[in-house]
Amino acid sequence: MGRTCLIFHFKKMKPHPSTKIVHPEYIAPSGFAAFPAAIHHASTVLFDNVATMRSSLWMDKSTYTYGLHGTPTSRMLEAQLAAIEEGSHCALAPSGLAAIALVSLAFLKAGDDVLIADNAYSPNRELGKWLGQHYGISSRHYDPLIGAGIGSMIQENTRLIWTEAPGSVSMEVPDMAAICRVAHEHGVVVAMDNTWSAGIAFKPFAHGVDISMQALTKYQSGGSDVLMGAVVTRDIALHERIEGVRKVLGMGVGMDDVYLILRSLPSMPLRFAAHDLHARQIATWLASRPEISRVLHPAFPDCPGHAHWQRDFTGAGGLFSVIFDPRYTERQTDQFVDALKLFKIGYSWGGAHSLCVPYRMQGLRSRWNEPGQLVRFNIGLEDVADLIADIEQAFAEIR
Ligand SMILES: *Cc1c(COP(=O)(O)O)cnc(C)c1O
Repeated sequence: MGRTCLIFHFKKMKPHPSTKIVHPEYIAPSGFAAFPAAIHHASTVLFDNVATMRSSLWMDKSTYTYGLHGTPTSRMLEAQLAAIEEGSHCALAPSGLAAIALVSLAFLKAGDDVLIADNAYSPNRELGKWLGQHYGISSRHYDPLIGAGIGSMIQENTRLIWTEAPGSVSMEVPDMAAICRVAHEHGVVVAMDNTWSAGIAFKPFAHGVDISMQALTKYQSGGSDVLMGAVVTRDIALHERIEGVRKVLGMGVGMDDVYLILRSLPSMPLRFAAHDLHARQIATWLASRPEISRVLHPAFPDCPGHAHWQRDFTGAGGLFSVIFDPRYTERQTDQFVDALKLFKIGYSWGGAHSLCVPYRMQGLRSRWNEPGQLVRFNIGLEDVADLIADIEQAFAEIR
């Protein structure tokens, strides 16, 4: 005889089967232990009694109020993400871009000004423009290598500075500590898009960053199958402002998606190291090629801001760009990308599959004077020799 697991909570009632399947009598015995996080789906969260319901606050992460504000599954992911970046608090958003929007909406109101690095993720720049058109917020772009010179751009109404290290297309690595120091002298909050480093290769709070945002869509997912974003802080007041916006906008995340990320997270440092190793091998080979005039990889001396990477970062991951020799036209570099077989054409990165995208930089930047076409590589987890052979045969197509 096994232990009894049935809880007869209907007592004297004699419910019909349709009631029984809505209110099951079976309650699983306690004591189940396993490594995977449980997937707690919920819109409605139950309270023991009215007094508990009335005293439960949505913001209080020691309790639960409604599925939109988290279940044990999402709380576990928040804690893991805060730990990776050495932060204390984390808010989840349905995409990386949604996480960017949470930060901008939390710190900007009509009449305010935001400074966005010229090499920032372009939808962040578009959001800045849109906030200007519809909400009376001015957004200006600054040279990512401005360093302490950011002080000359800060106005009376500047409230937020967006940084990205490196910019995920053109790869300039800013002097984050200098930007943060001067911003703080002026009382301005610094937010960083830390997606490139996965929070593994760069610890934002150690360099003065106030708010770290990441697209979990990239390395944290690792499977090219989930969209999600996170905003990590060390400061509860900053975190509460961000959570306040998340609440009024009704942004939540699906627990199956959260589970996919929780499942991928333990292997992320190993995957990141493999992407890093393979990308540096391929970038080294590309640097020796006559077709390529410049390799924009933060670990390489040719990359603007390389010294900042060397000082502040412990790794590089799989994403970098190259500039083709100016003798190649856009038509030819497009032909090169089309000729690749293992490298697929598509946005995003951080997954097992190698990707390649040509960019029209003039449309992305306020200032871009580099001659030659820019092409970005995401190095996946395929064999390096096969990837190099693929690039070599695509070069042959345009010779
Ligand atoms: C992908 C990406 C984002 C946005 O993430 P989504 O989940 O696709 O919205 C933001 N910043 C950087 C640097 C990214 O690469």
